[in-house]
Amino acid sequence: MPRPLLAVIVGLAVSQVGLFCTTVYLHRTVTHRAITMKPGLALVFRFVIWITTGIKPREWAAVHRRHHAFTDVEGDPHSPLLLGFWRVQLTNAALYRRVARDPETLRRYARDLPPDRWDRALFDRAVVGLAIGITLLCLTLGWQWGLLAAAVHTLSYLALNAAINAFGHLWGKKTYENTARNNQWLAWLTAGEGLHNNHHAAPTSARLAHERGELDPAWWFIAAASSLRLCKVRHESPKLLAVAATGAGGPGRGMAPAAAVAVLDELDVADAP
Ligand SMILES: [Zn+2]
Ligand SMILES: [Zn+2]
Repeated sequence: MPRPLLAVIVGLAVSQVGLFCTTVYLHRTVTHRAITMKPGLALVFRFVIWITTGIKPREWAAVHRRHHAFTDVEGDPHSPLLLGFWRVQLTNAALYRRVARDPETLRRYARDLPPDRWDRALFDRAVVGLAIGITLLCLTLGWQWGLLAAAVHTLSYLALNAAINAFGHLWGKKTYENTARNNQWLAWLTAGEGLHNNHHAAPTSARLAHERGELDPAWWFIAAASSLRLCKVRHESPKLLAVAATGAGGPGRGMAPAAAVAVLDELDVADAP
């Protein structure tokens, strides 16, 4: 196989690994506590996230919890309804960064996630993690093709994460009455995250596929890991937000605008002063 083609394929594969760890660990485990992992498995995910993304889990969780608390209203870090599709699609990482560096956001939304000794020694050093990841690619492919693979991975990872926030809040199927949308094609590219309307309706559920015909690839891993007792799943079946489930309740029915805050209440990180 020609080296440039191999580098592109490896870059895309690495970005898929990053996206898979993002949804399983950063999103479903750390942010929403839909899954509780055995420490050894969590450490594997933390290491892979460190060398493929350099993201600090508590920062990612804080930004994302704020997104759930202020979905598509003033205060949402990356709403395409407020900022426009292209601004979120093209500058999602910058929008993320601005909020992730805000100490007030971290204090309010990640107070249950203080840094531990692993963070202090390794995982808070994003540059070191990324340098290890890039070095591994260069040692495997040769330095120029390793750098190409790293660039392909970076672009693909950023573009697909942005698509969940931008495309996934504008276009696609609406099963529940919230501003997010379901797109199965995006779910295939993001290990299930494309089923974003389902996720906003049931944020503490580990499974993002709710209906026949919806497929959530990360769930297959979670179900297997759970049956091997490597992790615990919080709800057996998708659990709608408390406010949505009572009152009108159910697919396609009304949900109070403040319902998103209920998920933060469940995590004991509601937007308290
Ligand atoms: Zn969203
Ligand atoms: Zn979420």
